[in-house]
Amino acid sequence: MYDVIVIGVGGMGSAAVCHLAKRGARVLALEQFDIPHDLGSSHGISRIIRLAYWEHPTYVPLVQRAYELWRELEADAGEPLLIVTGCIDAGDPDSPHMLGVREACRQFQLAHQEFDSDALTARFPGYRLPRAIAAILQPAGGFVLPERCVVAHVEAAQRAGADIRAREAVLGWDIQSDRVRVRTNRDTYAAARLIVTAGAWTTSIATHTVGLLTPERQVMLWAQPRVPDHFQVDRFPVFYIRDGDEGFYGFPIYGVPGMKIGKYHHRGGIVDPDTMDRQADLEDERVLREGIRRFFPDADGPTMGMKTCLFTNTSDEHFIIDFLERDPRVAIAAGFSGHGFKFCSVVGEILADLALDGGTRHDISLFKLNRFVES
Ligand SMILES: Cc1cc2nc3c(=O)[nH]c(=O)nc-3n(C[C@H](O)[C@H](O)[C@H](O)COP(=O)(O)OP(=O)(O)OC[C@H]3O[C@@H](n4cnc5c(N)ncnc54)[C@H](O)[C@@H]3O)c2cc1C
Repeated sequence: MYDVIVIGVGGMGSAAVCHLAKRGARVLALEQFDIPHDLGSSHGISRIIRLAYWEHPTYVPLVQRAYELWRELEADAGEPLLIVTGCIDAGDPDSPHMLGVREACRQFQLAHQEFDSDALTARFPGYRLPRAIAAILQPAGGFVLPERCVVAHVEAAQRAGADIRAREAVLGWDIQSDRVRVRTNRDTYAAARLIVTAGAWTTSIATHTVGLLTPERQVMLWAQPRVPDHFQVDRFPVFYIRDGDEGFYGFPIYGVPGMKIGKYHHRGGIVDPDTMDRQADLEDERVLREGIRRFFPDADGPTMGMKTCLFTNTSDEHFIIDFLERDPRVAIAAGFSGHGFKFCSVVGEILADLALDGGTRHDISLFKLNRFVES
């Protein structure tokens, strides 16, 4: 009998098991694949972290807490997990995206600086944005290392006594009066509380979410720059560029000999995570290469690598962090809609609060499950 069982040890589950174990809970965490692995949503070396959240003000205090927790985890792990490069948001100066970034900076008094495209190139020569595009630099932005963060959370959890098992798939669970029973391909376990952090597989293990979560195939590409100096960590901030309906994001050279680019929602491929095509093809490459040519011509050298990955989208692109059917025995965190990794550390804290205390001091009202029913 455990205090808590966590289903899924990816970004969110690894953080949850770490916080639970550090708070003294007897916790079991079950992962269907390896730890870490590259079949879900938490791989590919880098994930953007930024403070000026244009999507909704709720996220800013959460990401501020996430920064603190990432730094604590780094100290614990004795290795870098969060690299500060600055973050560029760029787009039509009057677009909702850019107005939202400015508003978040104003509301939360976040350090930032505005540039036109020439001034941006003068400061960061890798950037060659069209004249009509404006840019805002947040110096505190940067990236976290997803695989290393998963490992660091798992190792910290293990040091605190957590029982974590890979290659063990959860087949189902049910609630019996005073406990939750979890059945896997190896055994059956019981706990007082259950946490579901199953990423793109959530609907198959928590059927209450069927119709609310849409897994979407994504692709990342690393290109060897023609002018490598322009794309080093100390000279090339991470970016999100919104140009009309298209959004590209990317990173300096780190870990792989190439700068990295992705296109938000890529080709819009809605998939089943068990049958998704995990090979990146020439059309994937063409889509991403176009972003490099449009904004970063000095990076337009040979391809160094490509990887597929999964978004799990909600219809409003806000997260789900809640109890399932208002039952305090089962908490769920899912639907991170392509922008969740930076929050893993604080989501882990929130899930431990929900499981152990029945509530949290963090404002998670935006992430309620029943907002879809009500709307
Ligand atoms: C290409 C790409 C770029 C992104 N860029 C950013 C970014 O720049 N910044 C940012 O903040 N976020 C970004 N994101 C989003 C972020 O990576 C995700 O929101 C985050 O990784 C989701 O974590 P998760 O724990 O929900 O899913 P995962 O890490 O996939 O974890 C779910 C785990 O549950 C396991 N599981 C599922 N079912 C079972 C079962 N039945 N039994 C046992 N185990 C099970 C899975 O195997 C998996 O390991 C990006 C995502 C992608 C794909």
